[in-house]
Amino acid sequence: MLTAAVRTFERIAIGDSIPSLVKWGKRVPTALADRLQRQAFREVVLYTARRQPFFARRLRERGIDPSRVRTPADLGDVYTSAEDLLRWPAEDFLCRAPQAVFESTGTSGAPKRVYFGYDELEASARHEAAALYQNGVRPGDRVVCAFDGGYWISSWVTFRACQQIGVFCSAIGKPHPRELYQRLAVYRYNVIIADPTWLVSLSEIAAARGTVPVKLIMAAGDRMSGVYRDYVQKVWNSPVVLGYGSTEAGGGVGMECRARCGYHLDEFNFLFEIVEPDGDGYGELVMTTLARRTQPLIRYRMRDVTRWIEGRCACGVRLRRIAPIKGRRDEMVVMGAGNLHPEMFERILHGVEGIADHWQVAVRQEGVRDILEFRLEPTDGIRLPAVQEAVFRNLENLYPEVWANHQCGMYRLEFRLLAPGTLEQGRKPRRLVDERQG
Ligand SMILES: [Zn+2]
Repeated sequence: MLTAAVRTFERIAIGDSIPSLVKWGKRVPTALADRLQRQAFREVVLYTARRQPFFARRLRERGIDPSRVRTPADLGDVYTSAEDLLRWPAEDFLCRAPQAVFESTGTSGAPKRVYFGYDELEASARHEAAALYQNGVRPGDRVVCAFDGGYWISSWVTFRACQQIGVFCSAIGKPHPRELYQRLAVYRYNVIIADPTWLVSLSEIAAARGTVPVKLIMAAGDRMSGVYRDYVQKVWNSPVVLGYGSTEAGGGVGMECRARCGYHLDEFNFLFEIVEPDGDGYGELVMTTLARRTQPLIRYRMRDVTRWIEGRCACGVRLRRIAPIKGRRDEMVVMGAGNLHPEMFERILHGVEGIADHWQVAVRQEGVRDILEFRLEPTDGIRLPAVQEAVFRNLENLYPEVWANHQCGMYRLEFRLLAPGTLEQGRKPRRLVDERQG
């Protein structure tokens, strides 16, 4: 279901087919897209103010008249956060009777619950279908989707997206990778969709036992470092494109194209903002669900830190792009070294020999001095001076300002070697932690 303006536009200008939606993604004039977005934003704010107790309360507290809200800025500091979803009962967010519910596990453990109507799942699938089509998926291909099932949303949306393209799809949950490996040739899958770490495990099996012809791999569900992407691409001799989304977003909100330079966002269904940007434009991504009416989310803080990519993409799609996610807002640490993101340390530690994949970087404090502590698990025969030397070199080359702050004594670098297995963590390991008091 879409707002009146967008629905009319879609029906008249685009029609139902996925190829024509893709065509429109390339042709829609920016001014028209902006106007439709603004119109849809006003509609969803009015709708939600009338029906959603949580949002109505927020507006009342701030003395904001919803009929005067034209742009996100008119809402001041009114946002919706993950903490809000956890704190208040579902009834506080529901605007109509739901038809489906999905969960999203946070690092804190308690699941956030998000409700949908079937029409909303279809709308979400429609844009994932367009993104897959733009990436070359066509009827006649065979897609296998190994996103986790259960209360996770992505597997269902991907299955429906494939249905909308008319392409063969097995949504198999998340079995042991060898379960799929055994069936790759049997079912002649040539498009693989899964989360990054699972894809790496599957690729390790394939590297040892042989691959099958694959035309496209799509990875989503967590960040994928360049190292992992390169490895998977090499094993299968196939491009890996990344998707970005969440349960709160109803599945995917953005996907890379074959240019693999940032995620094209679904600006038909969402209005995005990047709030509190730093000097380089990096800030937290915030979304408003323009089309959802079951549990609309107004200015939902996605916690992910990114920035806009300016200019037109080589692929011709006009939907705006964001840069790869730098990290989660709550993983971003501001200290003597500068603004730190987990992704920085993935790059710094990449290729450093003698350490395991499990590592953590902590920011500590001794007196008034910030300390950046690398916690590393040695593999065989590690020599600390060699590791330190490699880290210093990478830091200096990759992040000269961070290194310069070290040279002028803004913080101290320390290294701690831990017994193997100490840092083995769950689904979303915390790479960067702030352990300073207060
Ligand atoms: Zn593109």
